[in-house]
Amino acid sequence: MGMAFTDALIDHADVRVALIDRRHSASGHWLEAYPFVRLHQASAFYGVASTLLGGGQLQQRGPEEGLQERASQSEICAYYARMLDRMLESGKVEFFPNTEYLGDRTVVSRISGERFEVPARCRIVDARYLAPSIPAEKPPPFGVSDGVRVVPVNDLARLEEAPSQYVVAGSGKTATDAIIWLLSRGVDPDAVCWVRPRDPWMLNRALVQPDPAIFLGMAADTMQAAVEAASLEDLFLRLEDAGVMLRIDRTVTPTMARAPTLASWELEQLRTVGNVVRRGHIETVDRGKLGFADGSVAVADDALVVHCAADGLKHPGLVPVWRPEAITLQPIRAGFPCFGAALVGYVEATREDDDEKNRLCPPSPYPNSMREWATMTVVGTRSAMSFSAEPDIKEWADRVALNPARIPPGHPGSAALDDARERLATHTRPALARLAELM
Ligand SMILES: Cc1cc2nc3c(=O)[nH]c(=O)nc-3n(C[C@H](O)[C@H](O)[C@H](O)COP(=O)(O)OP(=O)(O)OC[C@H]3O[C@@H](n4cnc5c(N)ncnc54)[C@H](O)[C@@H]3O)c2cc1C
Repeated sequence: MGMAFTDALIDHADVRVALIDRRHSASGHWLEAYPFVRLHQASAFYGVASTLLGGGQLQQRGPEEGLQERASQSEICAYYARMLDRMLESGKVEFFPNTEYLGDRTVVSRISGERFEVPARCRIVDARYLAPSIPAEKPPPFGVSDGVRVVPVNDLARLEEAPSQYVVAGSGKTATDAIIWLLSRGVDPDAVCWVRPRDPWMLNRALVQPDPAIFLGMAADTMQAAVEAASLEDLFLRLEDAGVMLRIDRTVTPTMARAPTLASWELEQLRTVGNVVRRGHIETVDRGKLGFADGSVAVADDALVVHCAADGLKHPGLVPVWRPEAITLQPIRAGFPCFGAALVGYVEATREDDDEKNRLCPPSPYPNSMREWATMTVVGTRSAMSFSAEPDIKEWADRVALNPARIPPGHPGSAALDDARERLATHTRPALARLAELM
């Protein structure tokens, strides 16, 4: 988010930026990600505004043929290295790697120990407020007895000896990635025990695509379902019927709605895992046994427990983006944090008054539950209405691939796009009113 902010800021203002990161390079959490990770969304929606990540191509083969490419970890890190070079070459940006912001306008090099004061004329931008917590950097949130094998998801790719059983701990995107990767390596689905404290709702990746008719069609389906929904549960079931939301087990009503995207081939694979433990969070792992608040579950003595149970996206609460102490980067429209950070960079570059900037860009939260998903949709849609009402912002946002809802200049249009726009025009306001009631 810090890179997206800086990129948009320096392209629209005569400024100097000191980019500070405690890691050794740009790329954020991707530097420590598991090696088989990919963006769960199209590459086009990720990165910075000036430069497309990837080639904007459709996948030509494999189970996602016809869907937009999704960058791997190495592609993402190479992209950010190039973007950092671009920033440095602009002469506007200096990069301070391995440098920690301590608060109180003080930074310290983790290597030389040198300390710096941030001068009073310099604005602090907090690009770490929502930095995700990942298994490689967070110990498992359960007790582990001696002699039990518990590894972060990253270590799966480096195993030297196969256990007779894998226990995958977590319900989110990292857990689904781990299971799909294990199955791709020939692991029998019956050799996987999936500890899934909550069942997740996930978005159908085929509809979260950088194609205005598809993306706006999905948004229109969502608004239409919201108008008719009798409850939040009913809303998600309607979205499932419309092909927007997916769940792994149709006999279980999910309560988790962080809503990463999932492809139908992944859904089919996840459904082959029959040994699902729904006993809440693991509290202890002993040899041959997982302990829960209400008892224990037997596993193989040599079971390998795969830690996919970090929080991922954070929910520290919304704060105004512009405050005297800092500009705190957060998503603005629903989801799509890179677009939110770029938008804040553009608005910072083109406006003077903080109250006005906050009026244009109220932040929206990451969701965790169905209620929070509804909140994100309401807050994010209202924010999008607010910043899009400014002609220059609308013009900028329509040119930026990070913006999933854009109709690019010169787009040829289609009957499907006209239909989506008409339905959005009809349903959005009543849908927001209904969602606000359901929240
Ligand atoms: C596995 C995974 C897949 C994802 N896939 C997608 C996707 O497909 N599409 C999408 O839109 N989003 C995706 N996300 C979410 C998304 O990557 C992030 O939420 C988003 O990029 C924002 O990252 P960030 O800049 O907030 O955090 P980070 O990338 O973690 O960056 C924060 C940076 O702040 C630095 N930092 C923290 N504290 C300090 C300090 N005190 N001093 C100095 N530096 C500090 C950290 O070192 C870090 O580099 C995914 C997340 C995960 C975990």
